[in-house]
Amino acid sequence: RFDISKPWLNRVLERESRQFLTANADVSFEIKKGETFALVGESGSGKSTIAKMIVGLLAPSAGHIRFDGQDMDFASGANMRALRRRFQMIFQDPFASLNPRWRVRDIVAEPIVTFGLLQGDEITREVDRLLEVVGLSAADAAKFPHEFSGGQRQRIAIARALSSKPEFIVCDEPTSALDVSVQAQILNLMRDLQDEFGLTYLLISHDLSVVRHMANRIGVLYLGRLVEVADAKRLFLEPQHPYTRMLLDAVPDLALSGRRRKPVLGEIPNPIDPPSGCAFHPRCPLAQDICKAETPQPSVTPTGQAACHFAGKIGDTP
Ligand code: SF4
Ligand code: MG
Repeated sequence: RFDISKPWLNRVLERESRQFLTANADVSFEIKKGETFALVGESGSGKSTIAKMIVGLLAPSAGHIRFDGQDMDFASGANMRALRRRFQMIFQDPFASLNPRWRVRDIVAEPIVTFGLLQGDEITREVDRLLEVVGLSAADAAKFPHEFSGGQRQRIAIARALSSKPEFIVCDEPTSALDVSVQAQILNLMRDLQDEFGLTYLLISHDLSVVRHMANRIGVLYLGRLVEVADAKRLFLEPQHPYTRMLLDAVPDLALSGRRRKPVLGEIPNPIDPPSGCAFHPRCPLAQDICKAETPQPSVTPTGQAACHFAGKIGDTP
């Protein structure tokens, strides 16, 4: 009974990820317990692909993912089961990620049943409790997803994610399918739950206002590479990478004080055949000859790290 959603969910994932499957990604970062680490970047940067690899929905061809000091080897079923309970994922689109044929009770109970955490009446009581935790009511358990608004559906998805008592939740564009008026409610709920349950979040988003509201640290992705990692507050004030600055300059509320708002220039290139050297060079206002020839490696900056031949030296050039 609890298997029905899998082929259906996989179809959604396949559609989203096909583009990036053969692309080269080279990404390394660490998320600290209790923090919100945000990955930002335009679509095609590889954000969602990385999120899916972390929760085992896609397999990386090389490299490894460690959780609480343990290698996550998704191929080894028995080992992974205990580890798997400890992390969950919230998807971008609550319309697509909730099986329309299941009642809310069964949707929220799925991880509890899958991991064998509770039995019989205990499951019902736990589902009722979780629905209240996310701002719904026990009476909602008997309904179907189509009876709810987008924001309510995302609350159901959050209740399901919480039901295995995870420590770590990957949130892939959790509010980008929602009305602006509802977005803040969901983000505030996520923050309250983080405090209450000591959760660690990986937040995937293209929306810098969302990221600013939520993140402790930020990683900026460009074509499958982390071009900058920094403390969130400092990244907004002192971006060290030209791409980060381009993203910030494009958002009116975020434009650095004294700087004019500027549109993002150019299109993101095809991730399957990225430009030589620094993949950002065709769009970069500061590009020099070396940028076409050599791929910049991450170097330490005053705020974290950045992969640019001129990181830390871009000063206040317009
Ligand atoms: Fe721009 Fe060159 Fe830095 Fe790449 S390495 S971001 S092209 S200045
Ligand atoms: Mg995505």
